[in-house]
Amino acid sequence: MPNFRPLQRPRSATPSTESKPITCPQCCSQSLLMTWQTFANNTRHIRVTCRRCGRFVRYATQCPDNIRRADNETQSAGDQQ
Ligand SMILES: [Zn+2]
Repeated sequence: MPNFRPLQRPRSATPSTESKPITCPQCCSQSLLMTWQTFANNTRHIRVTCRRCGRFVRYATQCPDNIRRADNETQSAGDQQ
């Protein structure tokens, strides 16, 4: 008996909900700045602001990519010494 197996699609393709690019709600720019911000209760958050208009966009999840980005961009944006 022939054993026909349909091709299985790998599930590695990310669903569209996962990797939506963040855009500024004001000017729709995707050029965003991620910087560390420490709250009064000493928790750290990655603050996303728009490079173009400077508007606060959201707080980003602290995944390794974002953390690395925030490390870099906090330095380059930092007036805080
Ligand atoms: Zn903007």
